[in-house]
Amino acid sequence: MQPDQPMFDAKAWQLTSQQQELTARARHIGQTKFAGRAADYDARAAFPTENYNDLFDANLMGICIPKEDGGEGASFLTYALTAAEIGRYCGATALTWNMHVCSTLWSGLLTDDLEMDDSTRTMHKQNRSVHYQRILTEGAIYSQPFSEGSSAAAGATAFATIAHKVEGGWRVNGKKIFASLAGHANYYGILCTQTTDENTELSRRNTIYLAVPAASQGVTVQGKWDPVGMRGTVSRTLIFEDVFVPENATLMPAGIYFQAAKRWPHMFMTLTPSYMGIAQAAYDFTVKYLRGEIEGTGPVKRRQFATKQIAVAQMRIMLEQTKTLWFQSMSEACANPSKDQLMRAWAGQYTTMENANEIAQLAIRTCGGQSMLKTLPLERWYRDSRCGSLMLPWTAELCLDMLGKGCLYERGETDD
Ligand SMILES: Cc1cc2nc3c(=O)[nH]c(=O)nc-3n(C[C@H](O)[C@H](O)[C@H](O)COP(=O)(O)OP(=O)(O)OC[C@H]3O[C@@H](n4cnc5c(N)ncnc54)[C@H](O)[C@@H]3O)c2cc1C
Repeated sequence: MQPDQPMFDAKAWQLTSQQQELTARARHIGQTKFAGRAADYDARAAFPTENYNDLFDANLMGICIPKEDGGEGASFLTYALTAAEIGRYCGATALTWNMHVCSTLWSGLLTDDLEMDDSTRTMHKQNRSVHYQRILTEGAIYSQPFSEGSSAAAGATAFATIAHKVEGGWRVNGKKIFASLAGHANYYGILCTQTTDENTELSRRNTIYLAVPAASQGVTVQGKWDPVGMRGTVSRTLIFEDVFVPENATLMPAGIYFQAAKRWPHMFMTLTPSYMGIAQAAYDFTVKYLRGEIEGTGPVKRRQFATKQIAVAQMRIMLEQTKTLWFQSMSEACANPSKDQLMRAWAGQYTTMENANEIAQLAIRTCGGQSMLKTLPLERWYRDSRCGSLMLPWTAELCLDMLGKGCLYERGETDD
């Protein structure tokens, strides 16, 4: 098998040696293992367990765990480039791996940039080390079920899942919908509102990020999972009924997620790499298909038709636009970005999520009827890519909303 070319050429995009090495590692297992399994996970809406074993063997489960804790210490951009390579081969694996990795990226690199008093930081570093060791030595898998079907995951209201402070930890009650990795993660990293007594105000400022052991008493997985796309994510509903969670379960202390969402907003772009990878895959497939190089589709070449050439040119332009804006906005991720950087991040998120689906639909139209058969991956990328724009808090709609207001108003400005 001829190895695939990197999505981002090392020289052209000035990748570091670590970026080249990690992306090559991901591309190798993606091409040799994940690509061949993706159709089956999709057909059965089954979790990609074998892929997770491979990710563990390739030392990629701890990609964003700081080096001092034994991980690869990858930066935000390095992680994103690696995840995009996985997205080329299996969208559901890339998207769920994102939930796992963000549990370490957000509690790691991100919190290092945020304000905490010394004792909180010491405690946070001790707690996160417990999570990191589980991942590195026991192969623990973490997920990030935040959504509740309300506007909480959009950042507009407090989470209705309550973590009530009790001796030695918390009692958690609530429900999370679209909980990717439900029934497959070992720890569910949930955002809850912390309360100390009945009079505690339910405020977004009191959000706490807790890793609930999946095997805890009171945790149940409910509902069927039979969606149009990203079927291998197994995003079923989680119910928490009087679940006791110990003190060291925090992934972020109370108040820090609220600070992170405001001061490190690029954290929400971590959902994009999976879709960046799908966009690349759909384009690459189209080129091969039109050249008559896809196995099992006959020796027919279609590239000589001007209509096909124009269509593939449109796809290439859209792919270049997406990659360039995505790479630039991912490179700018930092604490306290300027308004201009934040607006570019929204534009990058919108562009990646919408263009991935647009490129996939153009790929089907351009290749033609036979290309949409279930024996080929195009129709799966088309379905998977549709999911990107729905991901809160930066859905395509919310990006447009924030960007439109941001273009026309300065902070505090009104029309009154
Ligand atoms: C394949 C897949 C996997 C997923 N995995 C996860 C996961 O692991 N973890 C997780 O937390 N979520 C996950 N999600 C959920 C996703 O992030 C969204 O929360 C979900 O798609 C929202 O569905 P909804 O029907 O409630 O959407 P919507 O109705 O679009 O939005 C939900 C709420 O957000 C608010 N809202 C919407 N638009 C606006 C607006 N313009 N202004 C203000 N508020 C607004 C409203 O209150 C609305 O009720 C996943 C989704 C998919 C499709």
